[in-house]
Amino acid sequence: MAEKVVIIGSGPAGWTAAIYAARANLDPLVLEGEGSQTMIPGGQLMYTTEVENYPGFPEGVTGPELMENLRKQAVRFDARVKGDDAATIDASARPFRISTSRKETIEAHAVIVATGARANWLGQENEQRLARTGGGVSACAVCDGALPIFRNKELVVVGGGDSAMEETDYLTKFASKVYVIHRRDELRASKIMQQRVLENPKVEVVWNSVVVDVLGDERITAVRLKDVKTDAERDLPCAGLFLAIGHTPNTEFLKGTVELDKKGYVVCPDGFRMRTSVEGIFAAGDVMDSYYRQAITAAGTGCMAALDAERWLAAQGVH
Ligand code: NAP
Repeated sequence: MAEKVVIIGSGPAGWTAAIYAARANLDPLVLEGEGSQTMIPGGQLMYTTEVENYPGFPEGVTGPELMENLRKQAVRFDARVKGDDAATIDASARPFRISTSRKETIEAHAVIVATGARANWLGQENEQRLARTGGGVSACAVCDGALPIFRNKELVVVGGGDSAMEETDYLTKFASKVYVIHRRDELRASKIMQQRVLENPKVEVVWNSVVVDVLGDERITAVRLKDVKTDAERDLPCAGLFLAIGHTPNTEFLKGTVELDKKGYVVCPDGFRMRTSVEGIFAAGDVMDSYYRQAITAAGTGCMAALDAERWLAAQGVH
């Protein structure tokens, strides 16, 4: 028998959608994902240490703990969970047919896509090791930058876009100095964001340079830089490394199914509604939002997607 609603993804958007769908008696099935080296069930918050900006936790909460709590809350209302990834969605007929990574086929009247986006990393071994162990390497300054380990320290941001500028500006509130490492001699960021950063006396831009290694055992101690024009290498001591080199939405499995924008994000054509280009398929969280990208906004859109799905299913006579 077809599921009423299948929720794909297990970050704040997915679990919030599951809580709402379960409480609406839709008996949701959550595909929480199998996990891989760059993605684990629970999403990007699983890579975050302290979360201090999620409302309701005055003392903060760790990313994994927050996700575990959201999961428990969904399961408490009888959301069912499978450890599969969605491999494809056949939307040519209803109910939709979802094929999973474990070679199952699941039929669903409605689908909520909440597979998130992954931060781009340099992909280096030491970078990944220190990011996993809370060693001062992060792809989210707004999440991690205010931690005590970064206070009054020299920090490094990699990237030349608006995110890099925003993160640099943010980090200057805590750091003694922030180096921006950019691979070209010109920033990609909007002029106004550039200006704010370039005029900040705490910021130094290192042009035409890339990070070729991250040094440090338990904590980062320096980055090894290479000047791309001269090939000269040097070590720049620092207490933190923040990558701001873009995100990639997890939508590979949706190509040809729902409309994606040119960067691969799911298009929700009605603005403040969570429906996609395909009736009955909804999206929530970072998979459809390249702009706010916060846990709380993802949770909010997860709630909206579940409410939209509930109303749509009722209109189809599925209760
Ligand atoms: P982005 O605009 O794609 O910029 C990514 C930056 O990272 C670029 O400077 C790029 O260098 C660099 N980069 C990419 N891969 C790299 C690598 N492997 N090694 C070194 N550098 C690398 O991404 P974003 O800054 O995250 O912004 C995404 C979108 O959100 C944009 O549309 C942006 O305007 C928007 N945004 C807006 C605000 C705001 O208005 N407040 C804040 C944040 C983001 P190149 O320049 O050489 O390609």
